[in-house]
Amino acid sequence: MSEAKHKNRGAVRWHHQSPTPQMSRGRLLAITAAIAIVSGVTFKSVTGFNGGGESAQLETPLDNTQQLETLNGAAPNSTHEKTAELSAPAAPSWREKIVKQGETLSQILQKAGYSNQEIHNITSQPQDGKSLVQILPGQTIAFKPDDAGELVGLRHIKSPLESVTYLRTDAGFVSQTVLRSPKSQETWATGIIDSSLFLAGEKAGLSQRMILDMANIFGGVIDFALDTRKGDTVQLVYEELFLDDKKFKDGEIIAASFTNQGETFNAFRYTDVNADTNYYNEDGVSMRKAFLMAPLDFTRVSSNFNMRRLHPIYKTVRPHKGTDYAAPTGTPVYAAGDGRVVQAGYTRANGNYVFIRHGDKYVTRYLHLHKRRVKSGQSVSQGQVLGTVGSTGSATGPHLHYEFLVNGKHRNPRTVYKDLPKATALPENEMANFRQTIKKANTQLAILNANNNMAMHNSSSSNDALN
Ligand SMILES: [Zn+2]
Repeated sequence: MSEAKHKNRGAVRWHHQSPTPQMSRGRLLAITAAIAIVSGVTFKSVTGFNGGGESAQLETPLDNTQQLETLNGAAPNSTHEKTAELSAPAAPSWREKIVKQGETLSQILQKAGYSNQEIHNITSQPQDGKSLVQILPGQTIAFKPDDAGELVGLRHIKSPLESVTYLRTDAGFVSQTVLRSPKSQETWATGIIDSSLFLAGEKAGLSQRMILDMANIFGGVIDFALDTRKGDTVQLVYEELFLDDKKFKDGEIIAASFTNQGETFNAFRYTDVNADTNYYNEDGVSMRKAFLMAPLDFTRVSSNFNMRRLHPIYKTVRPHKGTDYAAPTGTPVYAAGDGRVVQAGYTRANGNYVFIRHGDKYVTRYLHLHKRRVKSGQSVSQGQVLGTVGSTGSATGPHLHYEFLVNGKHRNPRTVYKDLPKATALPENEMANFRQTIKKANTQLAILNANNNMAMHNSSSSNDALN
């Protein structure tokens, strides 16, 4: 950690272009060629948005005064009032309050000095008054007094995409809901891995959600904890959502490519005729496999180089029937596939352990857990947390010992997937549509991959200027 000052240590060099409206093939070529030349420079995400629900509250859509126009039509003198508001900021205006945990609308309005009668007037509003009972922490309540200090307007900003405004009229409060839809733009990111995918992606400003989404897509084909290598490359084509020309959040991954130790895996988002959306490789085979390659939160596995340091210890354990993942105590351990817990308990050798049966043929075992989170007999689904990494039983340090049995015989979890049932593929009659749908994204990935290779070959030379 003390060596963190070294600039490129532990970094994925992400080149992040944003936004890229309608990436044409030509445009993409031009941009990526330029990126390749400046390889070695770490690009921060232009927007620096971190994703996640709470960030949504950063947006303050109080300024879209146009929506009041309609409502004001019902209110006498409203046109005048509105003009005054726009030209003379001294007039009473909206006051905002972010709702705290456990806070009710009544409490908020009482604190602001409004009477119970006024509060009743607005919450008894027939159309939307009831929804004011369900204000949630993190949402915004804005209210507007008139010159006399009486409540003339209230706005419940449920999210940057939805708000309800209540305005006082002679006939009582009227409400209007405003729903906004963000504009989606396609963008892309590409990176070369130096060590940990997650830490480096985070450092480079790619949102956590994007990195985790990508890891989930490839969770059935790549063991991110043990297989990631320096020089692996990753490309993403994804959506960014904008409100008022500001990035609101990341959208969906449209396509992704991961080249791991020379082998490239592509994944494409596709919605089938039953309206189910999943990721498929270029042949229409689902990326969702019966088993995860790494049954734990790989982001906590600090680096695969640690594993090598640990290996000498476990070599003395003979015979070793599983895979060891060194990870900090408390790292979540996942069910590798859907199944049922057949044993969960403690022994001196295994420590806290969980065994899962998947159908008739397969059993997976998880040993040395710090905590168990499931009970014998319980059904579990793929990715469900079974417990956490620990060093209970005969373990010299915190790690997950993972075993895979086929028909009662131990198999190497790292290679057994080759003999597992094939993942589901799209039906033949849907393949034409699938190929058409992924065509553009497939081309984009190919170009990004080609340029990434070029960047890798050039990156060792220099950071020459563009002239
Ligand atoms: Zn082990």
